[in-house]
Amino acid sequence: MPVDTTDGVGFGVGDETQLILDSLDEFLEQEVEPLLDDLGDVDTNPRTGHHENGRLTDEVLEAREQIRRRSADAGFYAMNLPEAVGGEDVSPVTWYRAKKHLASHGPGLSRYVLAGPEGPKPLLLQAAGDQIERYLEPTVRGEKSTAFAQTEPSVGSDSPNMETVGRKDGDEWVLNGRKQWITNAPYADFVQLFARTTPQEEAGRYGGITCFLVERDEYDLGSYNNAVGAVGTQAEIVLDDVRIPQDRVLGEVDNAFYAAMAFLSLGRLELGAEAVGYSEYALEQAREYVTEREAFGQSIGNFQQVSASLARGKAKTYAADAAGLKLAWKMATDERTVMDASVFKWFATTVMWEVADAVVQVHGANGLAEENPYMDLLHQARMLRIVEGTDEIQLNTIAKELGLTE
Ligand SMILES: Cc1cc2nc3c(=O)[nH]c(=O)nc-3n(C[C@H](O)[C@H](O)[C@H](O)COP(=O)(O)OP(=O)(O)OC[C@H]3O[C@@H](n4cnc5c(N)ncnc54)[C@H](O)[C@@H]3O)c2cc1C
Repeated sequence: MPVDTTDGVGFGVGDETQLILDSLDEFLEQEVEPLLDDLGDVDTNPRTGHHENGRLTDEVLEAREQIRRRSADAGFYAMNLPEAVGGEDVSPVTWYRAKKHLASHGPGLSRYVLAGPEGPKPLLLQAAGDQIERYLEPTVRGEKSTAFAQTEPSVGSDSPNMETVGRKDGDEWVLNGRKQWITNAPYADFVQLFARTTPQEEAGRYGGITCFLVERDEYDLGSYNNAVGAVGTQAEIVLDDVRIPQDRVLGEVDNAFYAAMAFLSLGRLELGAEAVGYSEYALEQAREYVTEREAFGQSIGNFQQVSASLARGKAKTYAADAAGLKLAWKMATDERTVMDASVFKWFATTVMWEVADAVVQVHGANGLAEENPYMDLLHQARMLRIVEGTDEIQLNTIAKELGLTE
């Protein structure tokens, strides 16, 4: 189908993107589904697949790694990164559509097909010298996994106030502190860890923070930070006089916070894409259910309160998708996207929360059943409204962009 770009706006799916979406479906069928056959209900039920303390079972970890490696082999995993480092250089629009497309198949291990928090992000493109071969390229190939470690026990949204410190000692850096809620920390080969290297009084609020590449055998793991619906994935990182060589600084000393801020929009695009995809999935499940389920002698979809609740969900999901496409398009054309990214992330995740709640409701008791994914989607939506900047942080950013606050 030709892409109509009348007045610079195009909503058609280009041929190349459509080919990627079709190939992703084939990949799911041929590579992912056979792996899941051996895993029982782990794919659909987050209450399974982990030990008592939360640690994921070896079978689940193996399946995730296999999906990652096979996806990288097939050219999907980090296809948004430049060809020079092993990606495919696809545009943010294609990346958005691919992320959304996978989520629209419902929650499950298919989320590991495209690089998420465990995978390479543009921040890692700052890798230089040996870091390229040792960290960046194997992560793009899905052979190694990583984590992004910023949050601490006392500091989340206010991350520049972090207490973890890095002190230079000869040719080494000495790291002390504790990170918390770090996705993939228990399983990563290395983490990208943020520490204060110059006091705020000297470097300013956002300056003085450096990103270090710290290997798994160099940090201790604290407790698992198990969330409802996300058990075994997040954990604490404990740094007690950890010494690492100078060449493990990623990017420039004291400049990591600014570097990370440059990629905020991408994280928000990806997360919002998932929210839109999950909303589409949940609405489709509900549409089928209310057509078949009968009460008072007719299908429940005939009751206006039921159909209107799904219609409202559809309208909001439609609007969220349009906002996601606009954000992706502005990113592709290198425009400023601070406001757009916050609008989309806040809106798409709020819509998913409302849609998931409506979908539970129209399923009645079946909506609450553990074997169905609807309460899990509600939990997922709750989580998406906290990670990558909470609702309040997104609204603060929008208010700031409106000139209302500083
Ligand atoms: C499943 C999961 C995975 C995660 N993965 C990672 C990861 O990989 N790496 C990582 O570094 N972190 C990760 N996090 C942490 C996440 O980024 C933080 O939880 C998030 O930034 C919020 O910080 P906080 O939890 O400390 O809440 P706080 O910052 O303490 O906020 C508490 C409440 O106060 C509100 N609030 C705070 N400041 C303001 C303000 N200025 N105006 C209005 N309201 C405000 C917040 O919106 C929130 O409602 C993860 C968290 C979860 C749940």
